[in-house]
Amino acid sequence: MKRLTCIVLALVLLLTGCASAKRSGAETVFAMDTVMDLQVWGKDAQKALGKMKEEITALESVWSATKQDSLVTRLNMGEDVALTQPQQELLQQAEELSARTRGLFDPKLGGYIRAWGFYDKQYKVPDEEDLESVRPQWDLGGIVKGYAGDRLTEILDTFNIDRAILNLGGNIQTYGEKPDGEPWKIAIQHPDGGTLGTVSVRGTMAVVTSGDYQRYFEQDGKVYHHIIDPRSGYPADSGLTSVTVICKDGTLADALSTAFFVMGMEKAVDHWQANRDFGMVLLTKDGKLYATEDVALTDCQYEVIPYEK
Ligand code: ADP
Ligand code: MG
Repeated sequence: MKRLTCIVLALVLLLTGCASAKRSGAETVFAMDTVMDLQVWGKDAQKALGKMKEEITALESVWSATKQDSLVTRLNMGEDVALTQPQQELLQQAEELSARTRGLFDPKLGGYIRAWGFYDKQYKVPDEEDLESVRPQWDLGGIVKGYAGDRLTEILDTFNIDRAILNLGGNIQTYGEKPDGEPWKIAIQHPDGGTLGTVSVRGTMAVVTSGDYQRYFEQDGKVYHHIIDPRSGYPADSGLTSVTVICKDGTLADALSTAFFVMGMEKAVDHWQANRDFGMVLLTKDGKLYATEDVALTDCQYEVIPYEK
């Protein structure tokens, strides 16, 4: 009898094991000029995936800086557009993030992005005159993937979902706990290929990387990348080559990773000491790796940035 109970129990476990595996789902979506990979576990995985795909498409059609009829394009053409509350909130948040980073996260540098040819991929080094004549134009490319991570997390909350991992073109969003109690392990890409190191995070978290190796072109032997220093209109040259920011708020993580790339190591560390609402991993152009003491970084050698008491 005991043996039979064991066999029945084992069978039940096996079946529920299979059932929960079947309830998982994955989707790859091409949106926002990048590949997005969504993996979800839980009873409503398929429903949640469907809703998430819809949301990504909707966000792209509103916030794209290149689509003809997007909100951003219409705002940039000076149209008097009626904004929904979430739209108003994101534009306001973008302004606040700009203030927080002393303008180095600049959501209105679309004119520069256009001048360098990053929109139509007709890359060129602009003349000084071209850069001087640039007017403020909305471009939320520096936060839209992080913002999407936040919105997708809200969708996951409304379904019966155990856990998920979303790769939004290098922006990683984790959701929920792993069943074995282990943390999520996120590999950070090395600019030269391979892995820079592994960050462990628990629960719902955004791990967002900005790097000069993600989008760039070469002209006359020089490399020009897509993160612009709003003070000069030129690609930022702060001595960093990769910045990863880790925090609960994906939009904040995305804005800070872009801004730190522009401000450089010293100012980024000052910002961390003063705020401490995020962790970060920094790689300098000369190959030195640093992480703040609140980050669990493994599989690499690095210098810890400690809190100043
Ligand atoms: P990625 O989009 O490659 O993951 P980022 O989050 O750093 O990387 O965003 C880069 C994008 O943000 C650029 O393609 C451009 O649209 C925009 N951008 C570039 N420089 C800045 C800046 N200083 N502040 C705000 N947005 C920027
Ligand atoms: Mg960013």
